[in-house]
Amino acid sequence: MAEHKPRAFVCGHPIGHSRSPLIHGYWLNELGIAGSYEPIDIAPDDFAGFMGGLVGAGWAGGNITIPHKEQAFALAAKRDAAAEHIGAVNTLWVEGRTIVGGNTDAFGFAANLDARAGGWRSAETAIVLGAGGAARAVVHALREAGLNEVLVVNRSAGRADDIAAHFGGKVSGRNWSDLDSLLPRAGLLVNTTSLGMKGQPDLEIDISSLPDGAVVSDIIYAPLETPLLAQARARGLAAVDGLGMLLHQAVPGFERWFGIRPVVSDALRAYIVADLE
Ligand code: NAP
Repeated sequence: MAEHKPRAFVCGHPIGHSRSPLIHGYWLNELGIAGSYEPIDIAPDDFAGFMGGLVGAGWAGGNITIPHKEQAFALAAKRDAAAEHIGAVNTLWVEGRTIVGGNTDAFGFAANLDARAGGWRSAETAIVLGAGGAARAVVHALREAGLNEVLVVNRSAGRADDIAAHFGGKVSGRNWSDLDSLLPRAGLLVNTTSLGMKGQPDLEIDISSLPDGAVVSDIIYAPLETPLLAQARARGLAAVDGLGMLLHQAVPGFERWFGIRPVVSDALRAYIVADLE
């Protein structure tokens, strides 16, 4: 009988830029697992058919990336609590013949901060810049961590208000023009906009009024050192880049598909950094 080799995928459109095959390939090799992790490009109109054929095709599951995270959410037969809160699915796995959707971005964000700036959980107030899909995952992580106040600041104020209405309670939307007056009370500042990313305009803010001891996190990882992080380091603040979030969010999926919980090591990080460079 043929040996069973677990197979997983990352599905997006386009998919060539994804570093997930490198991350999972590294762990498969490191752990000596005879499985595979394959990039798959599926156009939005074909995604429902792809998901419908997953069980029959023998996949253990996979990652879902742009632009399919919302469709995957709608099509999954069951969803974990994080996916329900965030409204998007980035990880699929098969239980019996049921496709389950989860979201590991919030876990990845929090695990990265835990690894690189342990004191972040004692911040009273966090400011989240941006109100897109990534901001939803970050806000969910901050709520789970029990922060007192999460202020979502976005260019389009209506989208920040939508996130506040979705999460309620300690989460509120604020105007970009109010940012300077809000910074002095933020123990944690997170950039989830695409500003500062390679090929995008810079994020032009002055963080000199952040309190001493504040943690600054940018979820962008290309470049690794964004101007925001450089500014934070120059002020002596803890500065956390986005690569760790990408690495940590991959851990729960790998464990589900291949049965072993992998470790985010310095060697893995160096391997992905070399590729980014
Ligand atoms: P998205 O849904 O498209 O949201 C983009 C956000 O950036 C929105 O808040 C948008 O504001 C803001 N923005 C874009 N251009 C702007 C400009 N010129 N001025 C002011 N604000 C601007 O994207 P996303 O999926 O949330 O991803 C955002 C970033 O996070 C990307 O760089 C992505 O690579 C990164 N990311 C990293 C990880 C990780 O694992 N490290 C995971 C997910 C995402 P408006 O609402 O006003 O348009």
